[in-house]
Amino acid sequence: MTIAQTSTAYAAPFGELDALTIGTVAVPGDKRYDALVSPWNVAIPVRPAAVLAAHDAQDIVEAVRFAARHGIRVTPQATGHGPMADLTTELLVTTKELDEVVVHPEGWARVGAGVKWLAVVEAAAPYGLAPLSGSITDVGIVGYTTGGGLGPMARTYGLASDKVRAIEVVTGDGELRRVTHTERPDLFFALRGGKGMLGIVTAIEFDLVEQPRFYGGSLWFDGDDAATVIERWLHWSDDLPELGTTSIALFQLPDMEGVPPMLAGRLTLSVRFVWTGSAEEGERRFAAMRAAAPVILDDVAEKPYTAIDSVHTDPLDPTPAYEAGHVLTDFPQEAVDALLALTGPGVVSPQILVEVRQLGGAFARSGEHPSAFASRAAAYSLLIVGISEIPGVEDHAAAILDALAPWVGGHRLPNFTFTPEEYVDAYDEVTLARLRRAIRTYDPDGVMTIGGVLA
Ligand SMILES: Cc1cc2nc3c(=O)[nH]c(=O)nc-3n(C[C@H](O)[C@H](O)[C@H](O)COP(=O)(O)OP(=O)(O)OC[C@H]3O[C@@H](n4cnc5c(N)ncnc54)[C@H](O)[C@@H]3O)c2cc1C
Repeated sequence: MTIAQTSTAYAAPFGELDALTIGTVAVPGDKRYDALVSPWNVAIPVRPAAVLAAHDAQDIVEAVRFAARHGIRVTPQATGHGPMADLTTELLVTTKELDEVVVHPEGWARVGAGVKWLAVVEAAAPYGLAPLSGSITDVGIVGYTTGGGLGPMARTYGLASDKVRAIEVVTGDGELRRVTHTERPDLFFALRGGKGMLGIVTAIEFDLVEQPRFYGGSLWFDGDDAATVIERWLHWSDDLPELGTTSIALFQLPDMEGVPPMLAGRLTLSVRFVWTGSAEEGERRFAAMRAAAPVILDDVAEKPYTAIDSVHTDPLDPTPAYEAGHVLTDFPQEAVDALLALTGPGVVSPQILVEVRQLGGAFARSGEHPSAFASRAAAYSLLIVGISEIPGVEDHAAAILDALAPWVGGHRLPNFTFTPEEYVDAYDEVTLARLRRAIRTYDPDGVMTIGGVLA
């Protein structure tokens, strides 16, 4: 049977699912529905026909089998940092209650699918260990890692998905499986890069790195100096060793609690830096950037890994975000000029953040075991974030991408895709063929909504 996405799906007997599971099942109108479905990105309407807040892996088995029986589709959600409205209309399975966290002092961790990076960062710190978390530790580990996972140490250690040892997953055929590079390698390949396409991950195990401290943070300049600083950054980062990972971000932060006054209500440029070698060498390396222009805030110093969120300074609170982006083949001076013509000083830009991360280093090399992550060749990633209610934010983001079109190319980062069409664009033909074969094997009825995008 192939599941059709039709309105009849909404007539599914969710009371039956409620009887089969320990977790809470809610449908629109129920008191707990809104709280259970609500994503971090509050601009995305997540309004499924029903939500199951899964209590354990068996609940997820029941949910996937129920969906297959009744011809509806299923989407997982942990934190709602990356929902796509089109994919969340039928049965949403939230994994927040799967909160197991075990850190092994010899260098690896096991977590449930509801766990955010912060829990592992804190549990690993006493052993001098760190996970390959992302720009903010509030993001969910499973969603991030199954999308590749590009973090602030990516040029030194590669992607989070390259560190995965094992994944436990309820595949679309309703089976709970343990997957490693030797047990079902086709699934191990597909789950690292393929996100929730094959099933709902219930737990994941991954290696940690020995990184008790780092030298880094963010260095802030006035927006008027953006052209000078970015020109310096291009030359400086060109021969940055793999011990260094860096990005730049044009910010227009609002005047609100938590935003330092010297950064609020104006255009600023942040240079982000993480050096995984000695603090002395990091400081020496970074001196050229400190001298690029007058500095308005310097938060680059030797820090414990628990301070990693200070590098990207992402927002913690639920945000109505409009996001767009792509990967770039290069970011030469002409591209900088094109970017600043739309986002630089003297221009009215509705975006809160326009960020360019330098890639390369360990990011560019395949991990020990092949995966469905197909963007290794990208030289830079571009991310644009605006507040969705601000008029013109979407058209302006499209204009930025148009202006950078000569340098846009390659496969998108799965974690920075924001529509189903963009999601397909994250994979090359060979990877797509392998993913489709895995879907035919492990989700023959097409229960996973996101897998349907590839059909
Ligand atoms: C502020 C912010 C900062 C970010 N920083 C980075 C960054 O530095 N690097 C980076 O690579 N990405 C980054 N991202 C993107 C983020 O990694 C993705 O949006 C990721 O999917 C979020 O996972 P989540 O579980 O938190 O979100 P959710 O919205 O809960 O899940 C998003 C998707 O992840 C998949 N997923 C979630 N749970 C499961 C599961 N149990 N089984 C299978 N699939 C699942 C599904 O496809 C789901 O639709 C950032 C996003 C935000 C909003």
